[in-house]
Amino acid sequence: MWKNMGLTGKIIVAMVIGIVLGLFLNYSGLNGEGSFVNTYITNGLFAIIGKLFVNSLKMLVVPLVLISLICGVCGIGDIRLLGRIGTKTFMVYMLTTALAIATAIGLGALFGIGKGMNIESEATFEAASAPPLLDVFSNIIPSNPISAMANGDMLSIIFFAILIGISILMVGKPAKGLVQSLELINEVILKMVTIIMNLAPYGVFALLAKAMSELGFELILSLLSYMAVLVGSLAFHFFVTMMIILKLFSGLSIRTFLSKMREVQIFAFSTSSSNATIPITLRTVTKRMGVNNSVASFTVPFGATINMDGTAIMQGTATIFIANIYGIDLGITEYLTVILMSVLASIGTAGVPGVGLIMLSMVFAQVGLPIEGIGLILGVDRILDMLRTAVNVGGDAAVTTIVAKSEGKMDLALYNDPNAGTKDVFDGHIDEENEREFSKVMNDGIMGSEYDDVDRRH
Ligand code: ASP
Repeated sequence: MWKNMGLTGKIIVAMVIGIVLGLFLNYSGLNGEGSFVNTYITNGLFAIIGKLFVNSLKMLVVPLVLISLICGVCGIGDIRLLGRIGTKTFMVYMLTTALAIATAIGLGALFGIGKGMNIESEATFEAASAPPLLDVFSNIIPSNPISAMANGDMLSIIFFAILIGISILMVGKPAKGLVQSLELINEVILKMVTIIMNLAPYGVFALLAKAMSELGFELILSLLSYMAVLVGSLAFHFFVTMMIILKLFSGLSIRTFLSKMREVQIFAFSTSSSNATIPITLRTVTKRMGVNNSVASFTVPFGATINMDGTAIMQGTATIFIANIYGIDLGITEYLTVILMSVLASIGTAGVPGVGLIMLSMVFAQVGLPIEGIGLILGVDRILDMLRTAVNVGGDAAVTTIVAKSEGKMDLALYNDPNAGTKDVFDGHIDEENEREFSKVMNDGIMGSEYDDVDRRH
């Protein structure tokens, strides 16, 4: 049965088994500190498989973003159009993030979460510093592109790739061969994504079993109102606000969008990282939804860095919750500051696990809430991080399709085909004809007789 199941089916089954097993290990006490299961299974086997899986995704991010974006810019071909797509994408990203946080503040205030609550926590929170906004802007142009790539500085990589793309366009016709080669490299990297995706069921299982085995139920119970409002706001924003925006601005089918997004969101949920999910998001919007690479190669990595609707929602809910617990009254100016700060903070921080808390400390500092308050919600942040990352990547993909549709850069037949992009799976075999052809090329020498001449001369 497992063999005949489609990849999405396998990933969903793996996710459910991982969650159930993790909860069982947790609830039964088998995962107690120092126990065999804790040492060798959850922190041993599962941790290793999970890490290998996340690493294999991260491994592809920088090469994929660089190459696909150069190809994307060459594909657009018109620098003015590039500017228009960039501006439009930026505006929609900011707008949806502001809507997200406004929803969270509205629902948080409506339910008065944290009012009259008296919770104590031993957890302390050391605010790691977020990059100052000025640095974020000045570092967009990397002084050393190789080190930007080594550090995964997404905005710098995006800038560098766009500059290469524009320069290739300026060279024009003679660069045709180069563009064709880059497009081939892009296809090769996307094949690597396909191979890694086939390992997803095992990776997702291990990551979720480990995460669930470490949840603290007592903490969850004591923070139930915070979690419920946060999860409700996340669901409302993604399923209602974003879907209305998608329908209104693109007219595309919501059901198709949601079903094709399922896989991407499971990846985001289990890795807690929009950045690590970039290869899957990019592959899904281009191969499964028909978005042209010229748009997606820019909007997806850009969104993973600057667009974090789920994270903004967490900040709104957490602000209300902590303010109420400490009995601090926030006025309209503070709320507006929270919205502005969250939107700005999301620009400067990358989509990696736990970064939302760093951004939250910036927001708290700005409106005068005690940073130690973050210690109160720290214990449940792991699971909330998973959920908000799924919303973050959902927003990136929704805006990508909206922008692509509005620019006529979308293949609607592909979008509406439920099986688009599902056939391309890696089962450990390589097409025999391909293999034969390549071994012939290698044996004859890549350049054929020319090489033979060189050989003879030496
Ligand atoms: N983990 C989130 C992401 O990668 C960011 C966060 O909220 O911590 O999108």
